[in-house]
Amino acid sequence: MRFPELAFLRLEHRARPCDHVDWALALLSEGCANPAVFELASFGLDSDPDAQAVERIFQACVRELNLSLPTDQEWVSCLLAYGVDVCERLEDGLLSPTAARDIFWNLFEDGNEPHLLWIWADLASDLFQREHPPARGVVFNAGLADSSADELTLAIADQFVRLCRIALPDIFPRVWICLECEAVDTEDTEVSQAVRACPGCGAGAALSNMRYMECRERFLSMGSERHV
Ligand SMILES: [Zn+2]
Repeated sequence: MRFPELAFLRLEHRARPCDHVDWALALLSEGCANPAVFELASFGLDSDPDAQAVERIFQACVRELNLSLPTDQEWVSCLLAYGVDVCERLEDGLLSPTAARDIFWNLFEDGNEPHLLWIWADLASDLFQREHPPARGVVFNAGLADSSADELTLAIADQFVRLCRIALPDIFPRVWICLECEAVDTEDTEVSQAVRACPGCGAGAALSNMRYMECRERFLSMGSERHV
Protein backbone atom coordinates (compact mmCIF):
# COMPACT_ATOMS: atom_id res chain seq x y z
CA MET A 1 0.00 0.00 0.00
CA ARG A 2 1.44 3.34 -1.08
CA PHE A 3 0.26 6.76 0.06
CA PRO A 4 -1.62 7.82 -3.13
CA GLU A 5 -3.78 4.70 -2.93
CA LEU A 6 -4.35 5.06 0.81
CA ALA A 7 -5.24 8.75 0.41
CA PHE A 8 -7.72 7.86 -2.34
CA LEU A 9 -9.30 5.03 -0.34
CA ARG A 10 -9.67 7.36 2.66
CA LEU A 11 -11.38 9.97 0.53
CA GLU A 12 -13.77 7.28 -0.70
CA HIS A 13 -14.36 6.09 2.91
CA ARG A 14 -13.10 2.66 1.88
CA ALA A 15 -9.79 2.58 3.78
CA ARG A 16 -9.66 -0.15 6.41
CA PRO A 17 -7.40 -0.12 9.50
CA CYS A 18 -5.31 -2.89 7.87
CA ASP A 19 -4.71 -0.65 4.81
CA HIS A 20 -3.10 1.93 7.10
CA VAL A 21 -1.01 -0.79 8.74
CA ASP A 22 0.05 -2.12 5.31
CA TRP A 23 1.16 1.39 4.34
CA ALA A 24 3.26 1.70 7.52
CA LEU A 25 4.80 -1.74 6.96
CA ALA A 26 5.73 -0.75 3.41
CA LEU A 27 7.40 2.42 4.72
CA LEU A 28 9.41 0.38 7.24
CA SER A 29 10.53 -2.00 4.52
CA GLU A 30 11.77 1.03 2.56
CA GLY A 31 13.90 2.08 5.54
CA CYS A 32 11.66 4.65 7.21
CA ALA A 33 12.59 4.88 10.92
CA ASN A 34 9.86 7.25 12.07
CA PRO A 35 8.55 6.29 15.56
CA ALA A 36 4.89 6.88 14.65
CA VAL A 37 5.26 4.75 11.52
CA PHE A 38 6.80 2.00 13.62
CA GLU A 39 3.91 2.24 16.09
CA LEU A 40 1.34 2.08 13.28
CA ALA A 41 3.11 -0.92 11.73
CA SER A 42 3.04 -2.68 15.10
CA PHE A 43 -0.75 -2.90 14.81
CA GLY A 44 0.01 -5.60 12.26
CA LEU A 45 0.58 -7.96 15.20
CA ASP A 46 -3.07 -7.48 16.13
CA SER A 47 -5.57 -9.49 14.08
CA ASP A 48 -8.30 -6.90 14.66
CA PRO A 49 -6.69 -3.50 15.33
CA ASP A 50 -8.82 -0.79 16.91
CA ALA A 51 -9.91 1.63 14.20
CA GLN A 52 -9.76 4.73 16.40
CA ALA A 53 -6.29 3.91 17.68
CA VAL A 54 -5.07 3.27 14.13
CA GLU A 55 -6.52 6.59 13.00
CA ARG A 56 -4.87 8.47 15.86
CA ILE A 57 -1.43 7.03 15.10
CA PHE A 58 -1.95 7.48 11.35
CA GLN A 59 -2.62 11.20 11.91
CA ALA A 60 0.62 11.35 13.93
CA CYS A 61 2.43 9.77 10.95
CA VAL A 62 0.92 12.34 8.60
CA ARG A 63 2.17 15.18 10.81
CA GLU A 64 5.61 13.72 11.37
CA LEU A 65 6.14 12.88 7.70
CA ASN A 66 4.74 16.26 6.67
CA LEU A 67 2.17 14.68 4.37
CA SER A 68 -1.06 16.34 3.35
CA LEU A 69 -4.35 14.53 3.05
CA PRO A 70 -6.59 15.56 0.13
CA THR A 71 -9.97 17.14 0.78
CA ASP A 72 -13.25 16.16 -0.89
CA GLN A 73 -12.76 19.07 -3.29
CA GLU A 74 -9.51 17.47 -4.43
CA TRP A 75 -11.13 14.14 -5.35
CA VAL A 76 -10.21 14.34 -9.04
CA SER A 77 -6.57 15.23 -8.44
CA CYS A 78 -6.37 12.57 -5.71
CA LEU A 79 -7.73 9.94 -8.11
CA LEU A 80 -5.29 11.01 -10.83
CA ALA A 81 -2.39 10.86 -8.34
CA TYR A 82 -3.47 7.31 -7.50
CA GLY A 83 -3.64 6.56 -11.25
CA VAL A 84 -0.11 7.88 -11.76
CA ASP A 85 1.07 5.71 -8.86
CA VAL A 86 -0.55 2.66 -10.50
CA CYS A 87 1.26 3.48 -13.76
CA GLU A 88 4.58 3.87 -11.95
CA ARG A 89 4.12 0.52 -10.21
CA LEU A 90 3.32 -1.02 -13.58
CA GLU A 91 6.45 0.47 -15.15
CA ASP A 92 8.55 -0.73 -12.21
CA GLY A 93 7.24 -4.27 -12.60
CA LEU A 94 5.46 -4.17 -9.23
CA LEU A 95 2.06 -4.58 -10.87
CA SER A 96 1.03 -6.70 -13.85
CA PRO A 97 -0.56 -5.05 -16.92
CA THR A 98 -3.73 -7.04 -16.29
CA ALA A 99 -3.92 -5.83 -12.69
CA ALA A 100 -3.31 -2.24 -13.78
CA ARG A 101 -6.06 -2.43 -16.41
CA ASP A 102 -8.46 -3.88 -13.81
CA ILE A 103 -7.74 -1.03 -11.40
CA PHE A 104 -8.42 1.61 -14.06
CA TRP A 105 -11.51 -0.22 -15.26
CA ASN A 106 -12.90 -0.26 -11.72
CA LEU A 107 -12.09 3.43 -11.30
CA PHE A 108 -13.88 4.14 -14.58
CA GLU A 109 -16.95 2.22 -13.46
CA ASP A 110 -17.22 4.50 -10.46
CA GLY A 111 -18.35 7.26 -12.81
CA ASN A 112 -17.30 9.41 -15.69
CA GLU A 113 -15.07 11.76 -13.72
CA PRO A 114 -12.30 12.37 -14.42
CA HIS A 115 -12.79 12.02 -18.17
CA LEU A 116 -9.11 11.14 -18.65
CA LEU A 117 -10.06 7.61 -17.56
CA TRP A 118 -11.67 7.24 -20.97
CA ILE A 119 -8.27 6.43 -22.44
CA TRP A 120 -8.32 3.27 -20.30
CA ALA A 121 -11.92 2.46 -21.24
CA ASP A 122 -11.02 2.83 -24.92
CA LEU A 123 -8.05 0.51 -24.39
CA ALA A 124 -10.38 -2.05 -22.79
CA SER A 125 -12.75 -1.72 -25.77
CA ASP A 126 -9.90 -2.27 -28.23
CA LEU A 127 -8.61 -5.32 -26.37
CA PHE A 128 -12.11 -6.80 -26.11
CA GLN A 129 -12.57 -6.44 -29.85
CA ARG A 130 -9.16 -7.95 -30.47
CA GLU A 131 -10.13 -11.00 -28.40
CA HIS A 132 -13.58 -11.27 -30.01
CA PRO A 133 -13.11 -10.73 -33.77
CA PRO A 134 -14.32 -9.42 -36.10
CA ALA A 135 -13.97 -5.87 -34.82
CA ARG A 136 -17.32 -4.10 -34.94
CA GLY A 137 -16.57 -0.75 -33.38
CA VAL A 138 -14.04 2.04 -33.40
CA VAL A 139 -10.43 1.03 -32.72
CA PHE A 140 -8.75 3.78 -30.74
CA ASN A 141 -5.23 2.37 -30.63
CA ALA A 142 -4.94 1.16 -34.22
CA GLY A 143 -1.43 2.58 -34.57
CA LEU A 144 -0.24 -0.05 -32.10
CA ALA A 145 -2.14 -2.93 -33.70
CA ASP A 146 1.01 -5.09 -33.71
CA SER A 147 1.68 -4.52 -30.02
CA SER A 148 0.73 -7.10 -27.43
CA ALA A 149 -1.93 -6.26 -24.85
CA ASP A 150 0.80 -5.77 -22.27
CA GLU A 151 2.82 -3.46 -24.55
CA LEU A 152 -0.32 -1.45 -25.29
CA THR A 153 -1.04 -1.15 -21.58
CA LEU A 154 2.47 0.16 -20.90
CA ALA A 155 2.14 2.66 -23.74
CA ILE A 156 -1.20 3.94 -22.41
CA ALA A 157 0.24 4.15 -18.89
CA ASP A 158 3.20 6.18 -20.16
CA GLN A 159 0.84 8.54 -21.97
CA PHE A 160 -1.54 8.78 -18.99
CA VAL A 161 1.31 9.96 -16.74
CA ARG A 162 2.39 12.63 -19.24
CA LEU A 163 -1.21 13.83 -19.70
CA CYS A 164 -1.65 14.11 -15.92
CA ARG A 165 1.27 16.57 -15.81
CA ILE A 166 -0.26 19.18 -18.12
CA ALA A 167 -3.39 21.32 -18.21
CA LEU A 168 -6.05 19.67 -20.35
CA PRO A 169 -9.31 20.97 -21.82
CA ASP A 170 -12.51 19.99 -19.96
CA ILE A 171 -13.74 16.46 -20.74
CA PHE A 172 -10.42 15.55 -22.45
CA PRO A 173 -10.05 13.13 -24.28
CA ARG A 174 -13.66 13.43 -25.48
CA VAL A 175 -12.77 16.43 -27.60
CA TRP A 176 -11.26 17.36 -30.93
CA ILE A 177 -8.30 19.73 -30.81
CA CYS A 178 -7.05 21.74 -33.75
CA LEU A 179 -3.39 20.96 -34.31
CA GLU A 180 -2.99 24.39 -35.92
CA CYS A 181 -4.53 26.74 -33.33
CA GLU A 182 -5.44 24.44 -30.37
CA ALA A 183 -9.15 25.33 -30.60
CA VAL A 184 -11.33 22.73 -28.84
CA ASP A 185 -14.42 21.19 -30.42
CA THR A 186 -16.71 18.77 -28.53
CA GLU A 187 -18.65 17.22 -31.45
CA ASP A 188 -19.05 13.44 -31.65
CA THR A 189 -15.79 11.72 -30.71
CA GLU A 190 -16.92 8.23 -31.73
CA VAL A 191 -15.77 8.79 -35.31
CA SER A 192 -12.22 9.05 -36.58
CA GLN A 193 -12.60 11.79 -39.19
CA ALA A 194 -13.89 15.34 -38.71
CA VAL A 195 -15.53 16.54 -41.91
CA ARG A 196 -15.91 20.06 -40.54
CA ALA A 197 -13.33 22.81 -40.47
CA CYS A 198 -11.74 24.05 -37.24
CA PRO A 199 -14.13 26.45 -35.42
CA GLY A 200 -11.11 28.55 -34.38
CA CYS A 201 -8.90 29.07 -37.44
CA GLY A 202 -11.08 27.53 -40.14
CA ALA A 203 -8.37 25.10 -41.26
CA GLY A 204 -9.76 22.00 -42.93
CA ALA A 205 -8.75 18.57 -41.63
CA ALA A 206 -6.87 20.13 -38.70
CA LEU A 207 -9.17 18.79 -35.97
CA SER A 208 -7.70 15.79 -34.22
CA ASN A 209 -9.77 13.36 -32.14
CA MET A 210 -8.21 12.97 -28.69
CA ARG A 211 -9.89 9.58 -28.20
CA TYR A 212 -7.14 8.23 -30.48
CA MET A 213 -3.79 7.45 -28.96
CA GLU A 214 -1.78 8.71 -31.95
CA CYS A 215 -3.71 11.99 -31.95
CA ARG A 216 -2.93 12.46 -28.27
CA GLU A 217 0.76 11.90 -29.04
CA ARG A 218 0.63 14.67 -31.63
CA PHE A 219 -1.16 16.91 -29.11
CA LEU A 220 1.50 16.16 -26.49
CA SER A 221 4.26 17.05 -28.94
CA MET A 222 2.74 20.47 -29.69
CA GLY A 223 4.60 23.36 -28.08
CA SER A 224 7.59 23.20 -25.78
CA GLU A 225 5.41 23.67 -22.68
CA ARG A 226 3.96 20.21 -23.26
CA HIS A 227 7.32 18.45 -23.25
CA VAL A 228 7.74 16.66 -19.94
ZN1 LIG B 1 -7.71 25.76 -35.68
